[in-house]
Amino acid sequence: MSKHVYALVDCASFYVSCERAFSAAVRNRPTIVLSNNDGCIVALDSLAKKLGLKRGQPFFKHQDIIQKHGVQVFSSNYSLYQEMSARVMNVLAGFSPRLEVYSIDEGFLELSDLPGEDLTGVGRTIKARVLQYTGIPVRVAIAPSKCLTKIGCERLKDEPQYGDVLDLTAFTPQQLDAALAHVAIENVWGIGPKYARFLRNYGVMTARDLRDADERWIRKHLTVVGARIQAELRGTACIPLEISRPPKQNIICSKSFGKEITSREAMEEAVCTYTARAAEKLREQDSVAARITVFLRTNAFHEDAPQYSNSFTIDLPYPSAFTPELFKYALKGLRAIYQDNFSYKKAGVELNRITPLPVVQPDLFGEVSLPEHYCQSRLMAIVDALNHIFGRDTLFFGAQGITRDWRMRQTMLSPRFTTRWDELALVT
Ligand SMILES: [Mg+2]
Repeated sequence: MSKHVYALVDCASFYVSCERAFSAAVRNRPTIVLSNNDGCIVALDSLAKKLGLKRGQPFFKHQDIIQKHGVQVFSSNYSLYQEMSARVMNVLAGFSPRLEVYSIDEGFLELSDLPGEDLTGVGRTIKARVLQYTGIPVRVAIAPSKCLTKIGCERLKDEPQYGDVLDLTAFTPQQLDAALAHVAIENVWGIGPKYARFLRNYGVMTARDLRDADERWIRKHLTVVGARIQAELRGTACIPLEISRPPKQNIICSKSFGKEITSREAMEEAVCTYTARAAEKLREQDSVAARITVFLRTNAFHEDAPQYSNSFTIDLPYPSAFTPELFKYALKGLRAIYQDNFSYKKAGVELNRITPLPVVQPDLFGEVSLPEHYCQSRLMAIVDALNHIFGRDTLFFGAQGITRDWRMRQTMLSPRFTTRWDELALVT
């Protein structure tokens, strides 16, 4: 049986590291990144953690600590993070053709074809190269299964003596026992809170307990999913790499407004802006959608203000990824639910009934002719390409509005160094 070897490469404090990659001045200062509208802390580095700050805390409640210790604060800059993530994954792809982009800051690499190599050395090379090419520090855990690499990465966070690279394949059975006994059952990859509670009731408290539990009992109570996790903990790989992600079956674009919306015109702009973004994501995966839902709501935290929320779903006569066509139905949906005299906090658009583009049959005698369909696709491809090269909203539709003063608040946004020519980092 061929032995599998996987590496999990996890970017350390990813959002903070992206900001630091372009700003040497903040490298040794505690740093935090805020959520949309600058509401709460979504990412922070170890220096900020030492000050007692935590993920999820409301920003305004901790102004005193932030000012006293000179904490560097950034609004979330998702265009920068997406682009930096793509760069990191690009470097990883150079180490193995089998790469699973697991999340914005984590990738699994299959390294089974490196027999007899010093895997710790390979891990160090990966770490050094990602740092050199992108400026992002990473942790690398190597193990015979994906589930064990996850455990390795968690250990690296607690044990700095490993220098961010850990090869579990070189562990003795005793060392592995100790490592697994250290991981609480709810922290095992794939075990949700419900199963964790269930397992605890039966005395299965750690990853080691789960590994050593009776196989039939696990299969009976945790189904085949639990059985797979158990096998992975025993060192048998059975959760394969997902090298190409299946296309999304629904696409949602929704955000809270920085300033509440009280006019129909502003709401139409917001809904068109979200529709345009959702349509762009739809085209990125070469798909079309046949159903669109528009939703909106007032601010539930303003208890004394009148409250209203509603949604409306429309089936399109023909599946489409053409932004103006989707605008037409989004606005129709909005008209059905928009009520005057409310102050709206949030709206969004969801696309459903998504199918891959090639199976669409344009109706030669109906509303969509084949030549028209090609014209629409070409136009959108040009718009997408220009926005990709020159930055989002280089080209946009008038229906999306120009001032958009309802947009989310990002008062401490760093420049979009990697996606805007006019915001390139300057070296002086
Ligand atoms: Mg991470």
